[in-house]
Amino acid sequence: MTPITRRTLLTATAAGVAVHALPAFAAPAPYFFKHGAFEITLVSDGHLVVPTSVLGSGVPPEERAAILKNIVQTGEQYNSPTNVTLIRAGSDLILVDMGSGARFMPTAGKLWENLKTAGIDKAKISKVIFTHGHPDHLWGAVDELDDLVTPDATFHVAAKEWDFWRSEDATRGLPAERAGFVTGARRNYETIKDKVKMVKPGDEVVTGLSILDTPGHTQGHVSLALTGGDGLIVAGDALCSGFSHPLISFPHPEWKSVADHVPDMAVATRRKLLDRLAADKSKLIGFHLPYPGVGTVERKDGAYRFVPIG
Ligand SMILES: [Zn+2]
Repeated sequence: MTPITRRTLLTATAAGVAVHALPAFAAPAPYFFKHGAFEITLVSDGHLVVPTSVLGSGVPPEERAAILKNIVQTGEQYNSPTNVTLIRAGSDLILVDMGSGARFMPTAGKLWENLKTAGIDKAKISKVIFTHGHPDHLWGAVDELDDLVTPDATFHVAAKEWDFWRSEDATRGLPAERAGFVTGARRNYETIKDKVKMVKPGDEVVTGLSILDTPGHTQGHVSLALTGGDGLIVAGDALCSGFSHPLISFPHPEWKSVADHVPDMAVATRRKLLDRLAADKSKLIGFHLPYPGVGTVERKDGAYRFVPIG
């Protein structure tokens, strides 16, 4: 196969073939592993394109340039991975977050086609658990016509998160340029509302899989704790959001990010969760960690380090 180079792009353009028809890069293959009674598959939803100006917004200026040099692929933007977790638990097929859908960014919303390529039938998904209500996690619930993509699934939403996005506080708490996040969350919540099961921290969704309180990135952000081995935590954006990177938030959980709704709470959550992961030697899955987003946490120089697996 001809590799995609600048030359092939230019040749394609000259021949009248739309450059945007060529993939930016091929979807990574699904990543599979067993954990206790669970079978885990990581599937990419594509990637978010994040302006460098907002990446690592809380990093002190004197350290920012050096860190960004190790992270940013081009000068202008950072491509943030989006790793969706699929869990087989007995007869249940559980999806954790649903990706961006068609309305957020052209580089994201690839979950359904990537699942299909992997031979996974989305109609068999019986439960969905949302970590939080941001577009890259929630908006994939509906298709272009606002119909449910997984009509037979039950949607597990943290009650605190549900209440936040439907309250007046949602618009008050967000910068103006992200007002669309509220409209989108409410639209998706409205579509799933007849199939929602409210959950709270401590609840067990299926045997060995429970809801963990990890607030701060959003008011009601939750993670999942799975039993088996030394444990597994599916952390959503609690440790690394789309505007951050493990080279920022693991060595410096105290650095605040503009992506976090309640920054002080997000810092406290990161510290507590990193400490638990390092102490327990649990596995970690992060939605925006380098694909497939699976690893462990080690203590390093009084802070922490992400050690990828896979
Ligand atoms: Zn996210």
